[in-house]
Amino acid sequence: MFLSFQAVVNFLKGPSGPKCLECDSVFIDGVCPNLDCPVKVAEWITRWCSPEAAKIPALDQAKAGQLAKLRLVLHPGELYELGQGDWDQLESVSAEQLSDIQRQMEGSKSAEPSAVLYGLKLPGVDERLAKRLIEVFSSIDALRVSKPERLQQIEGIDEEQCVEICRWFRDSLNKKALKMLEQNDFNLGRQ
Ligand SMILES: [Zn+2]
Repeated sequence: MFLSFQAVVNFLKGPSGPKCLECDSVFIDGVCPNLDCPVKVAEWITRWCSPEAAKIPALDQAKAGQLAKLRLVLHPGELYELGQGDWDQLESVSAEQLSDIQRQMEGSKSAEPSAVLYGLKLPGVDERLAKRLIEVFSSIDALRVSKPERLQQIEGIDEEQCVEICRWFRDSLNKKALKMLEQNDFNLGRQ
């Protein structure tokens, strides 16, 4: 058997196949592997703004999508650092809507720790597990520094998920998100 010229060209070009429409990354197992992909960022911001998380309904899915697409935010912490000029780039946001968003964002700073944790969108951490984790650890900071063995004792967390949660806290983007939230008056260490 010998390879055709085209086969060699394809091999040299690297992986091919379906690509993410938003960021052009080649899908791996049907999902976009790019952590900065605007689709993922938009999903994260939408989760953050949901009623079960930071409660910012005025910042709906469409606006979250625009913020991500314009690369104005990569994580929820950056929402709190946006200036007037950034918000002005969004299409069809009235002054009244913007003041609603900003008022709700201000209110989000006193969200329950379990709601903040749910909004952070850790792998596999749904609303129920977020509540459970805060019951056990009291704060996001305490969860962050907990030993994997301690985490694994919690009902509903298996070894694989434990590894993923620990990895989430080590990721540099997630670290930046937590730091920026703290700088914007979120108390992640409250008991
Ligand atoms: Zn993508």
